[in-house]
Amino acid sequence: MIACHVCGRESPDWRGLHKHIRAHGMRASEYYTKFPMQLRTRIFESVRYELVRDDLDIGPCWVWTGLQSPQGYGRMRVAGFDTCAVHRISYRAHGFQLTDEFLLLHTCDHPPCCNPAHLTPGTSADNNYDRAKKNRSHRILTDKQVFRVRELLSRGWPFERIRDDTGAALGSIAQIRDWRSHMHVTRPCTENEIPF
Ligand SMILES: [Zn+2]
Ligand SMILES: [Zn+2]
Repeated sequence: MIACHVCGRESPDWRGLHKHIRAHGMRASEYYTKFPMQLRTRIFESVRYELVRDDLDIGPCWVWTGLQSPQGYGRMRVAGFDTCAVHRISYRAHGFQLTDEFLLLHTCDHPPCCNPAHLTPGTSADNNYDRAKKNRSHRILTDKQVFRVRELLSRGWPFERIRDDTGAALGSIAQIRDWRSHMHVTRPCTENEIPF
């Protein structure tokens, strides 16, 4: 249930809330501008935390799990916003200013990410320069690699050996061990384990 921040009335889902706030004479965009914390909640509910950039110390990406554009950017339906690119909405919902003449560039180079800490405003010239500089050669851990990391962790291998075996950075291995990234990669239960 989602409570309306104006009157407290609960709606079963976001669509219901959008319908309800019209009773207060507000559009969704006005409501979210006034209550950005609720927009943040909505974003948190639809992302998966994933350590995509293994080689940069910037923390996990917030990977949008909802609608995506053909280029891989997250799309969000928020009636009344001038854009429905999730990363732009997320950036503003977290209190950062962004005007329409600026692009919002991904430091992590991962289009579905909407972690405001990975976003920086720039021009299209910056974007082209950035892309050429990085040459999109960063390492992304595949699910198969992560699976292997988990397997070796469960066998008690030291981090350095796991790194040499899988190619994952030490920081990534720690994040995987602590379930701070790649939470979607799990291993099947063995007979002796009780699933929960
Ligand atoms: Zn209300
Ligand atoms: Zn990111």
